[in-house]
Amino acid sequence: MLTERGPVMGAEPVINIGALRRRVIDRLGSLLETQVRANGFAGVLGNMAQSTLGEIRQRLDGMSEQYDAAELEEIAGLCERLDGSRALLLDERNRQANSNTRHLVSVIDEFNHMFEIMQHSLIERDLLERQSKVLEQIILSHERVGQWREFVQAILLDFHAIFPFDMFFVAFAEENGLMMHVYYMGGSTDDARRAIREQLSRHMVEGLGLPASTAIDYEEFHVASGRQIQNPRNNQMITVKVPEHAPQLAGLLGVTYLSSMSLNPREQSVIRSILAVLVMVVGSSKVLSRTLGELEYYAAHDPLTGLYNRRQFQAMLEYEIGRSERHQHEFAVLLLDLDDFKDVNDSYGHPAGDSVLCGVAETVREAIRKGDLATRIGGDEFALLLTETGREGAMRVADKLGRALRERTFIEPGGKNFHVTVSIGVVVFPGDASTITDLMAGVDIAMYRAKEMGKDSACSLDAVKDRLLATRTTRDYAEILRVALNERRIVPFFQPIVDCRSGELFACETVARMITPEGETIAAGAFIDTVEKYGLGRSLDRSMIEQALNHLHAVPAAGGGAGQRIFINLSAQEIQGRDILGFAEAHCQKLQIRPDQVVFEILERDAIGDMTGMRRFLSRLRAKGFEFALDDFGSGYNSFHYLRELHFEYVKIDGAFVRNIASSAVDRALVRNLSKLCQEIGIRTVAEFVESEETLDLLQDIGVDYVQGFHIGMPQRDMPLAQGWGFGR
Ligand code: C2E
Ligand code: CA
Ligand code: CA
Repeated sequence: MLTERGPVMGAEPVINIGALRRRVIDRLGSLLETQVRANGFAGVLGNMAQSTLGEIRQRLDGMSEQYDAAELEEIAGLCERLDGSRALLLDERNRQANSNTRHLVSVIDEFNHMFEIMQHSLIERDLLERQSKVLEQIILSHERVGQWREFVQAILLDFHAIFPFDMFFVAFAEENGLMMHVYYMGGSTDDARRAIREQLSRHMVEGLGLPASTAIDYEEFHVASGRQIQNPRNNQMITVKVPEHAPQLAGLLGVTYLSSMSLNPREQSVIRSILAVLVMVVGSSKVLSRTLGELEYYAAHDPLTGLYNRRQFQAMLEYEIGRSERHQHEFAVLLLDLDDFKDVNDSYGHPAGDSVLCGVAETVREAIRKGDLATRIGGDEFALLLTETGREGAMRVADKLGRALRERTFIEPGGKNFHVTVSIGVVVFPGDASTITDLMAGVDIAMYRAKEMGKDSACSLDAVKDRLLATRTTRDYAEILRVALNERRIVPFFQPIVDCRSGELFACETVARMITPEGETIAAGAFIDTVEKYGLGRSLDRSMIEQALNHLHAVPAAGGGAGQRIFINLSAQEIQGRDILGFAEAHCQKLQIRPDQVVFEILERDAIGDMTGMRRFLSRLRAKGFEFALDDFGSGYNSFHYLRELHFEYVKIDGAFVRNIASSAVDRALVRNLSKLCQEIGIRTVAEFVESEETLDLLQDIGVDYVQGFHIGMPQRDMPLAQGWGFGR
């Protein structure tokens, strides 16, 4: 049991309990004393009575002549009874005294036992209270857990006030050795510290079962002052192991105290309890500071690619504006937007999409210098901040990036290779803009311009400066498109589709172009995504169908127009809507155009969604005589499935393969096989994106039916005429 002056008894409730105990024991003691005194007194009285009776008996013997025998006998009988009563009384008195003593002793025992329990639970309560105070502090101070060492010091001071010890230490098993934090509760000499370190190393290495060669790093703190810590010749240590369930914190924790202070087991166990609390504090602080570290990381980084995120980009941009203003530097912002990234996700699945994003991040990292900032600011959007870089340098980086990405090969789940390209916008501070908002709006416009130029390219804002339309966001852009549609400023351009063998004009594809109020022409690639996103697809399609049929109608028969075919793109929304049937039919009737002159192009990715609906849609339109082409064939990874399920008259082989057949054996094989397959099942093939004579030659060898592309003919305002058509016009 602890003494009342004992260190752990210092707390207020323990003192009260001690006084209470003393009082109770005093009372019990005086009870015992009274009892013993009463016993003694009764004994004396008993003896006195006995000897008096003895005397009476003697006297009676001497008076036998003066009294008659009967009287004497009566008196002797009275004495006998009196003696018997006295003996009975004494016996009873003794019995009672014994039982009272037994009773009192057991009361004292019980009281002592109860006292111990009370004291124990008070200490426990005290510990629990401290423990919960400690925990509360952990929660309250979580923003400061980086400074857990200081935190531990504060707790040690409390601990030290209750139980004066000399040192406290924590050992952590780190990746390559041990990390020791030693807190000296008082002053120390170099010698003392050296000796302590030696002793601790031995203790730790043995305690943790580590090889003797383990490297140990020391961090030492002096906490309380006043006392001088002696050489630790016979120091005793109490250590507690950091819990096993947190293996990353594996280590030991302990206190050392001077051997002159002998501690009983109870005191030792109290110290252990306090150490257990400290384990928690140190452990939680370490875990928390690690978690906070991670949180901080993810607050600034994109988890997928490890690049910085939008938030960080904004912050750095702000910082860089300030810095460049002060030092009169230029810097550049590049906005990268992947071309047709949606297709990658739709066709190959999201894991493939993710691997593309990671690949782009890697390409970006390789392309920039130290000090530049690479961030992923949205789904498939990356922003780069190139410090101390002017326009020329920025364009060089943009070109380098475009090239590096074009050359990078990705592999889809089926094992096939594919490539991605990127459109890049460039702005320069302060030449193009000098605030965050203007820089970001400007780089957005430049990026859109790159898309308009046919994607896979870079564009600097100064090249489009005069067209600083109010195109700040895609929503604004959607508004511009809506107005353009209403004002009939979205018009069809026609791109020739030519017979691969004869070189004769076979048909033309209608592609949408927006004419800006300033008279500029913007290609569909720059706005078609916004059109689809904001539900303008059906209006666009109707407008295109109407205008294209009007053009076809207007082509003079003398120029070969009468029997000419026209390919018209349909949006995904139109396929859902279905009432296009009546609309197209009515227009054909009105203009006396045979439905079989009209071929609707459906993108492979749009055909995927609702196969049954699509089949019904196709068969109803076909019943009227219209024909269909499957556009961008080969870009999806289940292409053949659609070919088999849905009947198409034409297949347009994805330009992404066609344009590379001269340089890529894989793409060449792909185009050849697609073409062969279609031939065998009686579907005619169109190869798009024919950009060179070499490609055309190869396609003729392969046996593709029709060709289309910049090398054959650019999309143009007027419908090309069959008469007098030749290659390369
Ligand atoms: P698409 O149907 O695959 O159309 C071909 C696109 O490639 C057109 O871009 C065309 O200008 C471009 N192109 C043609 N030849 C070449 C070439 O040799 N090399 C390269 N690199 N590109 C070439 P555009 O007009 O920007 O259209 C982009 C996409 O927008 C089209 O892809 C189509 O899916 C959609 N689209 C275009 N016009 C319409 C339309 O009127 N209605 C609907 N719903 N979608 C349209
Ligand atoms: Ca098309
Ligand atoms: Ca296409």
